[in-house]
Amino acid sequence: MASQAAFQRCISPGCAATFDITDVRVACPRCGSLLDVAYDWQRVAVPDRLDYFDSVYSRADPLRMSGVWRFWELLPFAPRSSIVTVGEGQTLLQQADAVAQYVGLRPGRLYLQYEGLNPSGSFKDNGMAAAFTHARLVNARRAACASTGNTSASLAMYCSVTRLMKAVIFIGSGKISYGKLSQALDYGALTVQITGDFDDAMARVREASGKLGMYLVNSVNPFRLEGQKTIMYRVLEGLRWEVPDWIVVPGGNLGNSSAFGKAFAELFELGLIPRIPRMAVINAQGADTLFQLVELRRLAWNGGDFDQKLVSQFYAEMDAAQRRASTIASAIEINRPVNLPKCLRALETCQGVVRCVSDQEILDAKAKVGAGGMGCEPASAASVAGAKLLRQQGIIEPTDRVVCVLTGHLLKDPTATVAYHTTDQKQFNEVLGARGVRRASFANRAVVVRNDLEEIIRAIELYS
Ligand SMILES: *Cc1c(COP(=O)(O)O)cnc(C)c1O
Repeated sequence: MASQAAFQRCISPGCAATFDITDVRVACPRCGSLLDVAYDWQRVAVPDRLDYFDSVYSRADPLRMSGVWRFWELLPFAPRSSIVTVGEGQTLLQQADAVAQYVGLRPGRLYLQYEGLNPSGSFKDNGMAAAFTHARLVNARRAACASTGNTSASLAMYCSVTRLMKAVIFIGSGKISYGKLSQALDYGALTVQITGDFDDAMARVREASGKLGMYLVNSVNPFRLEGQKTIMYRVLEGLRWEVPDWIVVPGGNLGNSSAFGKAFAELFELGLIPRIPRMAVINAQGADTLFQLVELRRLAWNGGDFDQKLVSQFYAEMDAAQRRASTIASAIEINRPVNLPKCLRALETCQGVVRCVSDQEILDAKAKVGAGGMGCEPASAASVAGAKLLRQQGIIEPTDRVVCVLTGHLLKDPTATVAYHTTDQKQFNEVLGARGVRRASFANRAVVVRNDLEEIIRAIELYS
C-alpha cells in the first residue's frame, strides 16, 4: 500500500502495483497495463458537498466567472440580469524574461497579456460580451460586422452559443486567414464575401446595417470598448494593482488603444490609481495611418478640437496614390481606422507614442514570443516588435515595467507561422518573400531524417 496521499497505480485489478507520484512511467513495469493517478481519500481533506467549490472559487456565478463581468461595477451600463457571457476574459498576464531579453528589458520587467486565451481565440470576445449585452437590451435580432477575421469569429461564436441573434459577416476577398474564416463558417454565420478589402467591407456593412436595422458590432460600437477596458483591469490585477510604466498594443481600428485610454482615465478620475501609464500604439509599416498622422503630421486630440482637415487630406492623398494597406499582420491591415478620434484622446490621456514596424520585425518578434511563451498571431507580435524599437530609441528604459498585449492566438494564422519555420524556400517566398520578408532569423526548422532508428537517435542527440 502506498504511503502517500497521492500515488500512481496500475489499472489492472490483478496487479494494482503502486508507484510514487514522482515516478515517470507510461506503463506498469510488471504487467504492461496503463497507470492511474490514485488517491488515498482517507488522507486528504475531501469536501463533503460539491457546492463547497462555489464557496471557495465562486465560479458558479457567470458574473464572477467572466473576466469581463467580474468588473461589472466599472462598466455598469446594463443590469446584472441581462448580461451575456460565454466565459470570456479568462486570460493571463505572464512575466516573460526570454522575450524581455530580446526586447532589451531587464529580467522581470516585461509582461505579456495573453488575450489569445479567450474562447474564440482573440481579445475581441471582451468587447463582444459587452456589445451582445447591449444588443440584448435593445432586442436586436441580427448582428453584423465587417472583419479582418477575429471580430467575425467572435460574433459568430456569441451568436451560435447564445442563439440570441443571427450573425451577418462581411469580409474582403482573400484577406482573411484560414483559422479565422473556419470559425465563422463552422459557427454558422451568414458570411458575405465582397470584392475589396477591409475598408470596403466596413463601408458596406455600415450602409447595409442602416438599411436593414442590423446591430453593428464593429468597434465603432461604444459598448464593445467598454468590454475591452477590462483587459487593463486584468493587467492591473496581475500586477497586484500596481500601475506599469508602459502599455504596448497593436493598432488596427484602434478600438483597444481607445478602450485602454478610457479605462485609465476613469480609474484615475475615480481615485483608484495614482497615475496613468504611458501607451505605445504600434502600426505595421504597410498600414501606418496612425503613425503618419500622429508622428509625422502632428495630429493631436487637442481637447477634442483636432484637425479634421488634416485627416481628410491624408485620406485623399492615400486614395489618389492608390495606396492600400498591406501587411502579413492581417488583423491590423486597415487604411481608415474607425476609432481614430478616440485613439487621439487616449494618446493624450496616456502621453502616448505611435510607432510602426516591418513585417520582418513582426515575424521575428512573433517567433521569439512563441519560443518564450504561449505564442500569438502576427498582428499581436507588433506590440513586442514595437517595444523593442522604443527600447532602441531610448524612449522605453531598460528598467521600465512594460506590458505588451498579445491580441490573438497563435493558431489563428498557421500559414504565416509555418511559412516562417519552413525548410521549403518556395513556400517561404510565396507567403513571406512577397511581403519583403528576407530571412527567418529565429526559424525552428523541422529536421528531416530517414525512417531509421539509428539515424533518428543521432539526430536527436545532435540537435537537442
Ligand atoms: C482586431 C485586432 C487587432 C486590432 O485591434 P484594434 O482594436 O482594431 O486596434 C489587433 N490584433 C488582433 C489579433 C486583432 O484581432
